[in-house]
Amino acid sequence: MEEAREVRTTCPYCGVGCGVLAEVAADGTTTVRGDPEHPANLGRLCSKGAALGETLGLEGRLLQPEFGGRQAGWDEALDLVASKFSRAIAEHGPDSVAFYVSGQLLTEDYYVANKLMKGFIGSGNIDTNSRLCMASSVAGHRRAFGEDIVPGVYEDFECADLIVLTGSNTAWCHPVLHQRMLAARRERGTKIVVIDPRRTATTDECDLHLALDPGTDVLLFNGLLAHLVHTGKIETDFIREHTRDFDAAAALASADAPSITRVAKGCGLAAADVQAFYDLFAEIDRTVTVYSQGVNQSAHGTDKVNAIINCHLATGRIGKPGTGPFSVTGQPNAMGGREVGGLANQLAAHMDFADAAGVDRVSRFWNAPNIARRGGLKAVDMFQSVADGRIKALWVMGTNPAVSMPDASRVRAALAKCDFVVVSDVTRTDTTRYADVLLPAAAWGEKDGTVTNSERRLSRQRSFLPAPGEAKADWRIVCDVATRMGFGDAFAYKTPAEIFREHTALSAFENSGARLFDLGGLTGLSDTDYDAFAPRHWPAPEHRKKQTRLFADGRFPASDGRARFVPVRQEATAFTIDADYPLALNTGRLRDQWHTMTRTGNVPRLMANAPEPAVDLHPSDAAAHWLKDGDLAHLSTRFGFVRARVRVSEAQRRGQAFMPMHWSGQFAARASAGLLSSTVTDPHSGQPELKHVPVRIVRE
Ligand code: SF4
Repeated sequence: MEEAREVRTTCPYCGVGCGVLAEVAADGTTTVRGDPEHPANLGRLCSKGAALGETLGLEGRLLQPEFGGRQAGWDEALDLVASKFSRAIAEHGPDSVAFYVSGQLLTEDYYVANKLMKGFIGSGNIDTNSRLCMASSVAGHRRAFGEDIVPGVYEDFECADLIVLTGSNTAWCHPVLHQRMLAARRERGTKIVVIDPRRTATTDECDLHLALDPGTDVLLFNGLLAHLVHTGKIETDFIREHTRDFDAAAALASADAPSITRVAKGCGLAAADVQAFYDLFAEIDRTVTVYSQGVNQSAHGTDKVNAIINCHLATGRIGKPGTGPFSVTGQPNAMGGREVGGLANQLAAHMDFADAAGVDRVSRFWNAPNIARRGGLKAVDMFQSVADGRIKALWVMGTNPAVSMPDASRVRAALAKCDFVVVSDVTRTDTTRYADVLLPAAAWGEKDGTVTNSERRLSRQRSFLPAPGEAKADWRIVCDVATRMGFGDAFAYKTPAEIFREHTALSAFENSGARLFDLGGLTGLSDTDYDAFAPRHWPAPEHRKKQTRLFADGRFPASDGRARFVPVRQEATAFTIDADYPLALNTGRLRDQWHTMTRTGNVPRLMANAPEPAVDLHPSDAAAHWLKDGDLAHLSTRFGFVRARVRVSEAQRRGQAFMPMHWSGQFAARASAGLLSSTVTDPHSGQPELKHVPVRIVRE
């Protein structure tokens, strides 16, 4: 009989990236607890993380490749995938194929998928479900800093005197970070301001809640910038020495938000509350502004991000302890995906297609002369191209776009008519129904690799269970297909450690400090060191080992070393409410569920709090629609319809409806919020508007 053992790994859910100790008993049963040595959580876990041991069953697992309605061997399945992709490329060109991947992939998986598509197939058509999560933050960072960088670290929450949470129900979506913030509030009196149209578990423990009208964040932060200027609370030395374009941004902010009264009216807030927020921000030096999907998932998400960053640059509150704009990501490896080029508009190692020298550098490093020279299709456009027939072969890895993509009915129709769809995943999902070939992937606990959390900290995920049936690691599946497509020399990896070494070497290749993304200190990691790898931040070249908080020297990665103020103005929301669709639909997460519930949905205690799809309505809206608590309602938008139970709640703002994003066909037919959502996207980031879609609600 085997001995009991304990394995140090990382939670596969949100971007907090908590360390987990998985204890595997002699009989194979697994229990988990928080890793007290992991700096992200110091032993804490939320309800989802604590239930990880209950998600390791084989219910719904894919155990063998399948095609043509039958189980198949790996060889014939992989041969078919390779030949179908190769034929589409030969007949229609490299842009006729695409990969849609996931923030659930480990960095090594992401690296080889990106290398295959961009380096060897020669198309930019690889995008990730992280496009739905934080693409607007990426675009905002690049506009402001010259590179996609989260400047802060989690310790900043513990040394801040003011934390502004905007567009983030942190208590439910990043619970362990919220616990750290509340500890700071208790222990050092840190003030917490929450900017969110809804009353949530996060607003229950704050000093000021601004329940602004949806989509008015730019106006609120423009007003703040104007207020800081008018009251002389800006850092003129920092602005002069380390930034550009302040005057233009300040002038536009003042024109957009000339007074607190105008801001209050435009945002639907009391002037006294706006004044109180502005006073706190003006007076408290150590301020962190945390933002998440409420900011990003918007047709104007990038402008919202830059409106926030502008206020931090104006006050010089960046690169110092307890300060900074801080994007928190939804997925465990959204950051790792960004690092290797998982977004269609990125190349690899934070290089991009706009830089011809960067494309040349990656091409030489990979020995890939046919490398893509331009970005590919972003998620919404990718599925439009599938629908139009321009994409002939699509590979979906570890994600469920038939539920999670906006206008999900259109996505399902596109998948149904696509010439060839491959899905590699852990379980059957709404998307696997559309697969011509199904490939079983190894799950959390069965695979090895690295992830990067929201504070740029790399951690290991480690296997502690054998993969069941014939399931394989994603990186292995990609390499096996690449080899059959004739690219074997470039994909001859035997372990994820080899892939990690190549990834780190690429980040350091011809990079003597010119680019900030640099894992050069890790290039020579042995297999043993990779196994023992302890969590650490990037950049990781030797000389920056101790520099975890970036921009401390006031230098930014733009060519002139200066950060940019981006002038932004409040725009109208993408959709207006009208008599036909009189409420605004907002979507978000539940405390105990993850994505489309493929894992958390199997845990009874996680299902107990919200056992069926529900829509939250303010009592006056419920009454106006002849609805009462517990009624079954039919919700329709211009994109589709769903059914959900009505929950009447004072926490809901009047005029708005809220629905969780998680429900999929496995748990409730016709309840996925993706069926209601729009395909309107932010022009800079390509991130869809998921927070403000006009909706009509009637009783079933
Ligand atoms: Fe996992 Fe996030 Fe919960 Fe931490 S906070 S245990 S990473 S879901």
